[in-house]
Amino acid sequence: MKKIICLLLALIMLMSVFTGCGRKKDKADKNEETETTDTNEEVIGPVPQNTDPGTDGEGDQSEQGEQGEDGEDFYGPMPEITEEPYEILNPAVMPEGGTRDGVNYVPWDGIVEHLFFHMVIAYPEMAFDGDFKTNDFDDWMVTAGEFKKILNSVYEKGYVLVDIADVWSETTDENGKHAMVKNTLYIPEGKKPLIFSYDDTNYYPEYLENGFPYKLIIDDEGRIASWGYDPDGNEVVSRDLDAIPILDKFVEEHPDFSPFGAKACLSLTGYEGIFGYRTQTTTQGLTAEEEANRQREREAVRPIIAELKRTGWTFGSHTWGHIRLDNRSAEKTAEDTKRWEDEVGDLVGPTNVLFYPHGSRPDGDDVYNTGEVFRHFYDHGFRIFCSVGIESYSKIKDDIGAVICDRLHPDGTTLRWSRDRYLQFYDAKDIIDLSVRPDLGVGWE
Ligand SMILES: [Zn+2]
Repeated sequence: MKKIICLLLALIMLMSVFTGCGRKKDKADKNEETETTDTNEEVIGPVPQNTDPGTDGEGDQSEQGEQGEDGEDFYGPMPEITEEPYEILNPAVMPEGGTRDGVNYVPWDGIVEHLFFHMVIAYPEMAFDGDFKTNDFDDWMVTAGEFKKILNSVYEKGYVLVDIADVWSETTDENGKHAMVKNTLYIPEGKKPLIFSYDDTNYYPEYLENGFPYKLIIDDEGRIASWGYDPDGNEVVSRDLDAIPILDKFVEEHPDFSPFGAKACLSLTGYEGIFGYRTQTTTQGLTAEEEANRQREREAVRPIIAELKRTGWTFGSHTWGHIRLDNRSAEKTAEDTKRWEDEVGDLVGPTNVLFYPHGSRPDGDDVYNTGEVFRHFYDHGFRIFCSVGIESYSKIKDDIGAVICDRLHPDGTTLRWSRDRYLQFYDAKDIIDLSVRPDLGVGWE
């Protein structure tokens, strides 16, 4: 009997040791997991890494912050999206009886102006701090404050937003050939249609420590907001520092600026992910852990994309690697397109709009020539091809059934040196904030 009791006791002790070990091990695993998670978040959080030297990508990995730890919050539960009703209408369809909500709609067959922006500068003191990027940011960008003044001005001058994809339609001509046609738009009487596009809304690492937001998020009220750090290193969630929520807010306050619900077409590369989420692969391949992180980033960006779509934003390709298309072979271009489709198109959905990186025209010339690279994009569903220019030029290419167009570019260069060309939208004198920009002169008195 004693023996049996002893045996039982020994058994119980053994079991408790095992259970203890088991628990200990559990804990150890958990700790390991936590640690791994922390490390991972440093890799894929707000200050991400990218090493893909094989592209023309604008990314420069030299300046990476240490604020990654704070990004952990993003993997907590996402706030609920407030599904306030948002109506998107087609401007190519005349409202029944020609009026809607007491507003007369009239046909418009004239030029549809097109302005494009890059990301706007949230903190000019960081962007214009005299480092080697200062003049680039001055050339390419406007500040959040300047952007708000531009919105006010185009609104007061009677422009209303339309989506680029609603301006032209695909059709078949009398010979059965595929063609593009410019639509008659029905817009509120006295108003003028205007397209907005924003290039490189990827939140590139090189921007992050230079006064730009780090990423888009859904805020506590379920709306798109930007997340990042102010110059003192404090976390900031805002709808006033990024061109996307700024326009959302402006349309909330001035619904007649967007009678069809359109916002802007967002031109996306893929080499640093999209909207601040590091969804990209690299040519060196990813470890299993990195791939798991990438998948997590892909899941995290989905609600952002869904909310953008729901509220009138559309998406276009800016190529995966921000590659020049003027001298690129069709074969190399095809590799890039495949990556864009796999990593960006797969998330944002199909698009027929391509924005040329660096404004460089496929095959060196898309106006008088339709080369292999242009045909490649056509074969992949692209119909609207946008460059950059001195006017909102557009031309329907009859040989292939596509449209090419130029966009105007409000930025430091044109604010300083092209005041006259932009007077129909705003007076650069009233917009440019010379108190925050570097002293580079202006071409007007
Ligand atoms: Zn670009």
